[in-house]
Amino acid sequence: MSDLFLHDVRLPSGERAALELRGGIIRSIHASGSGGPGLPAPADLPREDGRGLLVLPGAIDMHVHFRQPGGEHKETLLTGARAAVKGGTTTCGDMPNTSPHTTTLAALAQKAALAAEAPCHLLFNFGAAPENLLDVRQAAATPWVRALKIYMGPSTGHGGLAPEHTEAHFRQAGRMGLPVMVHAEHIESIAAAEGRFPHDARHHADLRSIEAELTAVHEALRMARDHGTKLHLCHVTSARVLDLVEASGIRERVFVEVCPHHLLLSTADIHGPVENRYKVNPPLRPEPERAALLAALAARIDGLASDHAPHTLAEKRLPYDEAPSGIPGVEYVLPFALAWWAEGRYDLARLIALTSGNVARFLGLNRGALEPGREADLVLVDPDARWTLGAGDDRVASKCGWTLYAGTPLRGRPLVTLVGGRVVYRHGG
Ligand SMILES: [Zn+2]
Repeated sequence: MSDLFLHDVRLPSGERAALELRGGIIRSIHASGSGGPGLPAPADLPREDGRGLLVLPGAIDMHVHFRQPGGEHKETLLTGARAAVKGGTTTCGDMPNTSPHTTTLAALAQKAALAAEAPCHLLFNFGAAPENLLDVRQAAATPWVRALKIYMGPSTGHGGLAPEHTEAHFRQAGRMGLPVMVHAEHIESIAAAEGRFPHDARHHADLRSIEAELTAVHEALRMARDHGTKLHLCHVTSARVLDLVEASGIRERVFVEVCPHHLLLSTADIHGPVENRYKVNPPLRPEPERAALLAALAARIDGLASDHAPHTLAEKRLPYDEAPSGIPGVEYVLPFALAWWAEGRYDLARLIALTSGNVARFLGLNRGALEPGREADLVLVDPDARWTLGAGDDRVASKCGWTLYAGTPLRGRPLVTLVGGRVVYRHGG
């Protein structure tokens, strides 16, 4: 927590302003009409020159895999958090499929102890297990947990939860008002496709079909409706899922998350020397599905998350059946959101909703808006900066060290990141 006078920034409205940050909170916003940039800093506050940069709420990414404990050679809570703030993300929700799984209070305490050094806020999405309903109740009472994660289908580091246990967790979470984040892929549908397609990266989308996703989403919506549960659908890959959500009758308590890789990449991109880099669950989809999902971003989707899932290139070079699933990208969510804004896909209000505002409201976090009384998690952006991802002065910060997006030209760049009123990242500094 820190005090700071943030001088001469540009608000999303276009007005120049100064922000007074005290105790990690936005105390006041002095827009140009009321003296703004010229306002002298209160004598007791250190001053940061915003240089006329655009100020936005820091991004909230509720879907990251920082791999600690158990996978520290891929990422740690510290290296992952450093990559996050480099990209303007100020809150990360770490997933429970670490080793051990975050399904007990002891495992949660272990992660919480490691989080102290991280430069951004960390939350831990607690894992549902067959016999841990009591653990969930206790974990949800700690400041670290805002959501329960359920794997309805198998993925790397997790075998999937059986239907009767899934239902019990939905019932309890509904009574508690605890949002449930689901990985929606139907186990039996995936098992039925086994043996019908070659096992390689290009057939990954056949082995784990959109129909398998739709079946699981249908069932998750049914349970959320029956038990009054708030439902966060992770990494939706198809606009057909949006149709189901909109017809569910419970749209207001469903959060639809999409990830940059499903918006930017399709099965047509899967080529090159290490094809398993594109292996991810749920899979990349055919080009028309990708295009339809991207078209839906302006209105029908609630939020962006990275599903940052780092693995080493050596692991990705293993044969298909042994190569782990997952694509890294925690540091590029806000940059892509800015680039889509620069393309004219949506306005700044929508950009804020997609990157922080909607998920903050869904989870009850006092973040995701530029208002007095909110936590001072901020990012300063040069909206006109043109840069190339993974080239020049952009080096991949994730410990895994690689990205599928290298060479992508972008417009709009996060330059300074503040968490709780303290500068935690400065580009080039
Ligand atoms: Zn994930």
